[in-house]
Amino acid sequence: MRLHTSSGTTGKPKAIFFSRNDVENAAQLMARSLVSTGITRKDVLQNMMSYGLFTGGLVMHYGAEKVGCLVIPAGPGTSERQLMLMQDFHTTAVHILPSYALYFASFLEQKGINPRKDLTLRKAFVGAEPHTGETRRRIEQAFGCDVYNSYGLTEMNGPGIAFECQYKTGLHLWEDNFLLEIISSETGEPLPEGQVGELVLTSLNREAMPILRYRTRDITSIIPEPCECGRTHRRLNRITGRSDDMLIIRGVNIFPLQIERVLMSFPQVGRNYVIILEGLDDMTIKVELAAAGFDGQVEHLAALQHHIVEKMKAETWVRPTVELLPAGSLPVAEGKAKRVIDKRSL
Ligand SMILES: [Zn+2]
Repeated sequence: MRLHTSSGTTGKPKAIFFSRNDVENAAQLMARSLVSTGITRKDVLQNMMSYGLFTGGLVMHYGAEKVGCLVIPAGPGTSERQLMLMQDFHTTAVHILPSYALYFASFLEQKGINPRKDLTLRKAFVGAEPHTGETRRRIEQAFGCDVYNSYGLTEMNGPGIAFECQYKTGLHLWEDNFLLEIISSETGEPLPEGQVGELVLTSLNREAMPILRYRTRDITSIIPEPCECGRTHRRLNRITGRSDDMLIIRGVNIFPLQIERVLMSFPQVGRNYVIILEGLDDMTIKVELAAAGFDGQVEHLAALQHHIVEKMKAETWVRPTVELLPAGSLPVAEGKAKRVIDKRSL
């Protein structure tokens, strides 16, 4: 009955088909996910993900309607319009890309709007891009709301496959709908519970396009302990990278998220960054300073640069060149943020 496409992170997007029951079931799982965070029919959910071939918009929309919220299908419109909708309709929850949430926080700052006082946001659902715990903390601080990690992929419905409950300690994977395995990316063998490897999913209820043992390329592990909320669906740890976006730099395996974790641990560092690889494995990281990150003292800037390089070296074993830029000088992505530019000729 419906066609969506995968995001095409690696190559041409794949077409994924849904039957009427598949659409209904995806909405049901999405609704379950939202309820597990405490969303009720009294909420006003502003859906800032794109509608269309991407599942992020429509599946969330149907799920939130099932809960009975007022849904605002804002899509990824301009920040001005997002803000107007939030103020006019007292939005209590948003569904948003983490990179856009950070950008939107700077936008509000520039407009002189304090989200804690001037908006009514209580919850934000972030997904579609892997992100670190540090990024979550930054979004929570900026908006004064709870941020829940959402995991999904079009091949298995879209969003609402695994979701954090109100305790925000890992993502419950809905095991009545998906068979869960963690395998070694190298050998393909299943790994014992708790070990880090590649997530493999089998759909148990999809009709139009059931998929067996789909390799998601996402790197994570199972949290074996039961969750405080009492749900028995096992939890996944935060995705730490994709097996195919692993960078090999001077023979060392590095995930872009490792770099993000180091950058975001410095409060003087802003929200936007890009990693450039060129020549013979030279890594340059261009990162914006926070709006209040520079006090005008050039020696403080040099010291910060030095500290970032040292911490990066300790974390990844590679010594990068770090360029600090004024806030707002890097381009902002419309959709998913492109963090790595690989110009190496090899
Ligand atoms: Zn739980």
